[in-house]
Amino acid sequence: MTGPEVLVLWDVDNTLISARGFGGLMYREAFRTAFGRELVGAVDLGGRTELDIIAECLREQGVEHTAEASQRLATALAGCFESRRGELTGHGEVLPGAREALEAFAADPRVHQGVLTANLASVARIKLEEFGLAHLVDWEVSAYGDDHADRAELVTFARDRARHVRRFADDEVVLIGDTPHDVRAALVAGVRLVAVATGRSTAAQLRAAGATVVLDGLGDLAELRGHVWPGRDRGTRTA
Ligand SMILES: [Mg+2]
Repeated sequence: MTGPEVLVLWDVDNTLISARGFGGLMYREAFRTAFGRELVGAVDLGGRTELDIIAECLREQGVEHTAEASQRLATALAGCFESRRGELTGHGEVLPGAREALEAFAADPRVHQGVLTANLASVARIKLEEFGLAHLVDWEVSAYGDDHADRAELVTFARDRARHVRRFADDEVVLIGDTPHDVRAALVAGVRLVAVATGRSTAAQLRAAGATVVLDGLGDLAELRGHVWPGRDRGTRTA
């Protein structure tokens, strides 16, 4: 075996899967369930943590941002996803190369891979279960949108949870994500990043946010491996 062990932390939405419009739909339904009225306007979901989105949503909708109100909306959101989980795959897809990349890393003893996602933990699990990817990630080395409102802080949560494996150094942690929020999280946390221009952000926007590695997608596994193990070792041991 060559190359160091790495902790790979995957963003979920628009990195592994796309579920076009489903998140917004769930927010509307959850808001109605929680507060008995319609949500007015749109909710900007892209890349921000669920706690952050919930706080803004409450503010914009004129609901006092208390812990109770936040929890009520989060609970309603999780409930909506659970009750309508069967519709998820009809709204979206696994993005090209994502399943193959997850499978290759899951089979590689150097890789410990979890998710680092803005989603609530329960919602992240529902999404990956419905798309048949949940068994490929280690949910115990992951971090979620209900851990902290600041995505950069999620890196600390995931690393702390991975302590039972080992203490991963900064350059042994790789975030893979599609938005400037992912980029910022990696920069603030001081870990490595592979950005993928598979969401709303263009490669130029991701670079402008500070990403130095930007891929068009996950379709080229050798290319991805080359960035997870940069330098001499290109991670070819399974070739
Ligand atoms: Mg994303």
